[in-house]
Amino acid sequence: AICLRGVHKFFDAGVVRALDGVDMVVLRGEWVAITGPSGCGKSTLLHLIAALETPDSGSVDVFGRALGSHRGHAQFRRTQVGLVFQLHNLLPQLTAQQNVEIAMLGRGLRRRGRAERARALLADVDLGGREDRPPTKLSGGERQRVALARALANDPPLLLADEPTGSLDSASVERVIELIERLRRDRPSLTIVMVTHDQRVAGAADRIVRMRDGRIEHTHPAADMTRG
Ligand code: ATP
Ligand code: MG
Repeated sequence: AICLRGVHKFFDAGVVRALDGVDMVVLRGEWVAITGPSGCGKSTLLHLIAALETPDSGSVDVFGRALGSHRGHAQFRRTQVGLVFQLHNLLPQLTAQQNVEIAMLGRGLRRRGRAERARALLADVDLGGREDRPPTKLSGGERQRVALARALANDPPLLLADEPTGSLDSASVERVIELIERLRRDRPSLTIVMVTHDQRVAGAADRIVRMRDGRIEHTHPAADMTRG
């Protein structure tokens, strides 16, 4: 499980309370959607779970590993976490295929193994045939899907995604939801924490966590959205 207890994160010498006492548990295999207004701390929460930031107080525990001590974070991220950032951070000088392949460097896979896996992942996100294009020659939705393929390249047990459907049209959003549902069927232990403003994406998750002013305001099963 992922366990946050009494987590505070401040910026600008404490003037900005990005996270102001967050307690949250995400079970292994669960898909949790995080929603809430701009600036309420959603990205900060993901960054803490990814060990990109450390809490000022409180504890963050991911699959039994206490984050916050400083050693081994790079390896934790490389082996345990697939990240899709709010701005997808693809390298513009590389092709889609190469963007996925570089995520697999240092894993002891041979070049051919990496190439085959990248090709398969891109096919999974419906980008077969577009492997050799640079991000500048892909649509926004296609870039988001390359970022998703890259996040999955190391077969991580944890997928963290910050508005992965942010700039997508409605058909592409449906495809991303389908892709995630397929991933979960293939791998029931995959844990997903996803920031989203999209009602359909949130509704497809197991649980919705609503944040406000650095706190969790409300948590409810996603199925409740469709009731009443
Ligand atoms: P959005 O929906 O706009 O992406 P968010 O919920 O992801 O918003 P965060 O990025 O977590 O919000 O930011 C929470 C608060 O912390 C905001 O007030 C933001 O300005 C501030 N903040 C975030 N990162 C930093 C930083 N590196 N330095 C200073 N302030 C920061
Ligand atoms: Mg954000």
